[in-house]
Formats: sequence, C-alpha cells, structure tokens
Amino acid sequence: MQKFKLFINNEWVDALSGKTYEVLDPAKNEPIAEVALADTKDVDRAVRAAKEAFDSGVWSELEGDERAEYMLKAAQLMKKRSKELARWETLQSGKPITESEDVDMPYSVRAMEYFANQAREIKGEVIPIPGKYAFDYVTYEPYGVVGSIVPWNFPLHLATRTLCPAIATGNTVVLKPSSLTPITAILLGEILVEAGFPPGVVNVVSGPGETTGSAILSHPDINMISFTGSLDVGGKVLEASARPRIKKVVLELGGKGPFIAEPDCNIGAAVNSLIEGFCLNQGEVCCASTRLFLHQDIYQEFMDELANKVNSLRIGDTLDHATQMGSLISKGELERVDTCVHEAVKNGANLVCGGKQFTDPPCQSGNYYQPTILDNVTNDMKCAQEEIFGPVLVVIKYRELKEAIKQANDSNFGLSATIWTEDLRTLYWTARKLNAGTVWMNTNIKSKIEAPYGGNKDSGLGRENGTAGLKEYLKVKNNILFVGEKYDNFYGFK
Ligand code: NAD
Repeated sequence: MQKFKLFINNEWVDALSGKTYEVLDPAKNEPIAEVALADTKDVDRAVRAAKEAFDSGVWSELEGDERAEYMLKAAQLMKKRSKELARWETLQSGKPITESEDVDMPYSVRAMEYFANQAREIKGEVIPIPGKYAFDYVTYEPYGVVGSIVPWNFPLHLATRTLCPAIATGNTVVLKPSSLTPITAILLGEILVEAGFPPGVVNVVSGPGETTGSAILSHPDINMISFTGSLDVGGKVLEASARPRIKKVVLELGGKGPFIAEPDCNIGAAVNSLIEGFCLNQGEVCCASTRLFLHQDIYQEFMDELANKVNSLRIGDTLDHATQMGSLISKGELERVDTCVHEAVKNGANLVCGGKQFTDPPCQSGNYYQPTILDNVTNDMKCAQEEIFGPVLVVIKYRELKEAIKQANDSNFGLSATIWTEDLRTLYWTARKLNAGTVWMNTNIKSKIEAPYGGNKDSGLGRENGTAGLKEYLKVKNNILFVGEKYDNFYGFK
C-alpha cells in the first residue's frame, strides 16, 4: 500500500505524533493508501512555513509575471501527470474514470493556467479627488496566509479552485483536503516542487475536520479562510473566523438546485441535461439539479423519457471507461442517502425508480446507489428542502411558471438554478427572478473557471473562480498622497 506524508515547506514529513490513517477506495471499501494525520502541531508547522514564505517576500514580492511563470510550469506538469492523477482521483473518490479524466483534471489544469495569467493583470485604480490637492490611488494586496479547506467530491478541482487564485495574488497557503480524498492534493506538492516553487508557498496537511480543520480555523497567523463544504461546517467556520482574530472568509456551501421544464422545452435535450444534473458524480455535486419543477402539460412524456434513460445508465467498475456512474464516497453516506429516500416515501413521496443500494457485480462490496426519482412531492417536504447529496431527484408538478419560480426560490439555498424553454423572453425574465449564484438556460451543470461561482443565502458567501474569485484573495488599500502646495489642516493649526 502506498504511503503519503504531509507536504510542508517543500518537504514530505511524517506527522509529529507519528499518526497515520487509511484511505479507502469507496467502490470496494478496501484500503488504497496510508496517509499521515496532521494535528495542531503539524498545522502550526505548516502555518509557520507559509508565514515565513509570505513575510520574506519570496512569493508575495514577485512580479505577477514571475508568479505566472511558476504556475504555468505547474500546469504543464499537471497535464503530463493527468492520467496518474485521474486514476488516484477515481480510486479515492469512487467517481468514474472518464469523469476524472474529462472533468476533474481539465478543470484543475485550467485553474492553474487561468489564475497564472490573472496574476499578470492585478491592477489598481486612481480616484479623482476634488481640489487636486491629493493623488488618491487604490492598491490590491494579498492577505498573507490563506487556510483552504475543501471536500471530497471534486478533490483536486476544488483544491486548485482556491489554491490558484490565492497564490496568483501573492498569498501563501495551508491546504486541507478532505481526509477521505487527500492523495491528489499531496501529489500536487510534487508538481509544485518540480515547477520550482519556493518552500512554504503551498503546504498540504491531511486529516479529519475536527482535528486538522479545527487547527486551521483557530490558528492566529491565518488571515483568510476559503472553505468549501457543508452548511453545518460552514457555520462553524464563520463562528471560528472571529477568534482569536477576525479572518476574511469565503464560503462555498450546499445547494438544492431547482430545474424548471416549461411545456415548450426540447424534452429530449432537457431530460439529458437533467440526468447530467442529478447523476453526474453520483449526485455528489453542490449545484446538482435535485428539484424538478415539471409543467403538467408535459408531465407524462417527460417522466417516461427520464425514467427510461435513468434506468439505462451504466453503473459499474469505476476504472472502466464505459462506466457512467460510480460509488458514493462512503458506507456512511450510502446509509444516509438511503435513509433520506425511505423517509421521503414514508412522508408520501412516490418512488418512480431506484431507491436502494446497487449491488450488481462488480459493485456488491462498494457504496453504489441506484439513481432515484421521487414524485408526488411538494416543495415543503424535507426531501425537497434538504440537500441529499446522492443521485436523488424529487419531482414537483406545476401549472403556471410564476408558481414554479416562487417555489424554486422557496429554499434556504441559492446556489444554482436551471430553466428550459424555447422562449427567449421567458428565459431572460426567469433568470432575473431566480435567486441563485448561477442560472443555466437551456443547458445545465457546466461552470467554467473563467466565470464566477458561488451561492446566495445558505449556499455561501463570496465567489470562487473568475475575476470575482480572484478579488476575494486581495485586500483593498486606499493610498492618499498630498500633492498640494501648502498643507492646510482642518483645525487651522499654524
Ligand atoms: P464537510 O463540510 O463535511 O467537509 C468539508 C471539509 O471541511 C473537509 O475537508 C472536512 O474535513 C472539513 N471539516 C469538517 N469538519 C470540520 C471542522 N469542525 N472544522 C474545520 N474543518 C472541518 O463537507 P463534505 O461532506 O466533505 O462535502 C459535501 C458538502 O460540500 C456538500 O454540502 C456540498 O454541497 C458542499 N460542496 C459545495 C461546493 C460549492 O462550491 N458550493 C462544492 C463542493 C461541495
């Protein structure tokens, strides 16, 4: 079994306690790696390395062009090792290999490339001051040490989505991947060393949230936290960010994406995009389309096509390129998803398809779950309000679009929403009314590193990706230079 250490100050080190833990392949529930477990002391070591790298200026004082060169070299090396990284991503997360190769790796490489080029574009502003006595200019500066905490569903993609803008802007980073999926983030360390990154710019510490994550949240020398994960832990991050001093926080949390299908929509295409929306990555996607609002006039036709296609999805060996759906991340998640489905049925939902563990060979020892559709659901039911985070879709019938929009917005989440219709005006006005960080119109689930991503309400605070994401990692400084002939103070002092 392969062993992985902590990556601190460009070195691979054991945890000071000597503790390790096993990482499992969720598709088989078998161990695939042994990984060092970082506690408070290891996190402190990583933060000290990051702080020293920041304070010394080896990274923060480089020209944006120079940081860009390091990052572009890293992107090239990531591409070179993308098959190997994709394989580890699949082994540790249970996602199909095609998805690791075609989604996770290209997004991770693109984050490195895109933010490398953004490093060259960080500009200031000049503010016109009446009276011409002062030259007022605004500069954007890095925060210092950023603590990045990410989940297990897109391990390297979500790690690079926070790491790349953080380092492009001159910050240094302590990154904590999920304890379930730490391997690709640790391997990224090898790539950064080969690309010539100075020691301490990026550090990777693995371990459980309560130990390693908490140590990051409470460290006094961390100036900013970028957190991607659940609403529950997001709340803890926000509370902890006030102690021992205020930290800048970005939160990327959960969702319960509505998908509205109008009667004139292209049913075939809408159905395909909906299946992508709730079955991609086994439904373990924050912006998954999990609440279908289906117009009564197309209800039966749409549902028949949906159920047919869902039943023909290929669930299987995660390393087989023909597999379309893999395994949920853990036994615990499998049981939790199954409980949510059973509770929904007990509360009156009707099971259209799925509803149990998938155990056909070769999946019998993994955490596979059948893609599941529940109809006869109302928007106030728990299954329509809470994130299930598995391949589970609830269906709500509607008569009028305004009623569907109202219910779509009647959710504590506001991450993403989707509308399908052939009417351009309806698309435009519905998008304006939907309370979500991303609205897809006649498409679904695709987001780009170049465009802002994030949520409203309980779905988070701030944005990742795009120039909006880049700005999150920069603090604003206003600079006022007196350029008048004689200083004339307010109090009339001579
Ligand atoms: P999680 O909140 O349990 O864990 C996320 C990270 O936080 C992990 O690294 C975990 O170890 C760490 N953590 C857990 N407890 C902690 C604590 N007390 N202190 C500090 N760190 C702690 O989430 P998860 O189960 O790994 O991921 C699934 C969730 O992530 C879903 O809710 C999903 O919607 C959300 N998510 C959101 C986005 C987004 O961009 N909005 C993207 C992916 C996933």
